[in-house]
Amino acid sequence: MESNFLFKNTRLRLSLWYAGAMGFLLSLFSIGVYEAILHAHEMTLNREIESVTGTLHDSLKPLLKTPGELEPQIHQSFPYLCIVGQACDSEGSLNGMGAIHQGNYYIRFLDRHGNLVATSRMSSGDTIAIDSLSTWQTLTDKQHHRYRQMTVRLETRDRQVWGYLQVGKSLQEWDDYLKIVRYFILVGLPISLAVVGGVAWQLSGLAMQPIYRSYRQIQQFTADAAHELRTPLAAMQAIVESTLTNPEISRDEAIDTLQACDRQHQRLSELVRDLLLLSRLDFHLTTIKRQPCCLNDIVADVAEEMAPLALGDNIDIQVVTLPDPAISVWGTESQLYRLLVNLVSNAIRYNHVGGKIKIHLKCSDRRAILQVNDTGVGIPDAEIERIFDRFYRGDRDRSRKSGGSGLGLSIVKAIVEAHGGRIEVRSIIEKGSQFEVRLPLK
Ligand code: ADP
Repeated sequence: MESNFLFKNTRLRLSLWYAGAMGFLLSLFSIGVYEAILHAHEMTLNREIESVTGTLHDSLKPLLKTPGELEPQIHQSFPYLCIVGQACDSEGSLNGMGAIHQGNYYIRFLDRHGNLVATSRMSSGDTIAIDSLSTWQTLTDKQHHRYRQMTVRLETRDRQVWGYLQVGKSLQEWDDYLKIVRYFILVGLPISLAVVGGVAWQLSGLAMQPIYRSYRQIQQFTADAAHELRTPLAAMQAIVESTLTNPEISRDEAIDTLQACDRQHQRLSELVRDLLLLSRLDFHLTTIKRQPCCLNDIVADVAEEMAPLALGDNIDIQVVTLPDPAISVWGTESQLYRLLVNLVSNAIRYNHVGGKIKIHLKCSDRRAILQVNDTGVGIPDAEIERIFDRFYRGDRDRSRKSGGSGLGLSIVKAIVEAHGGRIEVRSIIEKGSQFEVRLPLK
């Protein structure tokens, strides 16, 4: 297959399509998994911030008296706070952040107008601009660190609006983790694609093998058919040319020439008829005219027709059938007749002088069994596989004058298959051969 450009090109295109489709699916899958991880993490993070904010909100509410003002009690409870306009000991405040600081959290107090009142600071000392007062936000500082932030409204003890509490958490760790995931996807995807490409190349090679085989068979068939057709044509041309170059041709010579031409013409017609029959069987065109066919009658007719031919080589044809009940199958009578003629004529052609042929018709297991046994030359094991190939002739038979075109058994096989049956052959060299056809009963 490697040498054929068409097949190589098709194989390459198949592999590329396959790898492309797989690559697309893999990318979709990776993006889906990545998005699912993001979503799951966002939900967990939101719940965590929500719970911290809720706790802070509940503990602050009883302490708030005047809107926008942080009571001293709050300073004591949250010593890490930096009040706007006052000096702030960041180290000291951070140390006092306790559980909140450990989770990379920050908190901010805003008055009712959204102005900053107090804030805790992150360990890096970064400050984040107040963006808006919407409940959920994801903010980015100047160092491109991201924070997830929740804003809730604070009320004083007597239910006046105090201002806003913002609780945020750094996404630094999460972003680092995502970076690793992205790295794995970016490196893993091309590697998987390369592996998929290799597998696709192998698979498309496997898928193309039967197509390539039948393509080669068709090529071989065309070459053989052309060769077989050329032989009688060339013979006819030679006869006609030699006759034309002879100026004084007698009537007897003219008759001989015409008879030779007629023989070649018949050979040519037979060949074309066989090729047409094979191509019709290939397209199942002949299966339309199905009717019950009595195999007993066909066997008797063929034996009678072939007897004179067998007599020439002193070959005896014996028929073994059960007269009652007659064995019938659904099919085309002319084809079944042709099937048996081909088998019996081979049994005569490849037999010894004085040999025997036995045609045995029986039925078993809802099948009609038709056997043609001969005591002929037999078929070598190496050839048995190939005798049903179109135009195949055994090595020993190529040189024989009596040899046919090599289409006989391929026609037999095509007819058997068109009738839903199967054919088997057993043979022993110089002892004889047995062809067994099994057809479904009517
Ligand atoms: P052909 O026209 O050459 O007979 P077939 O397709 O009928 O073509 O047979 C193919 C080959 O199978 C023959 O050339 C011959 O070698 C072998 N063959 C077929 N039938 C027999 C048989 N009964 N005994 C021995 N060889 C056989």
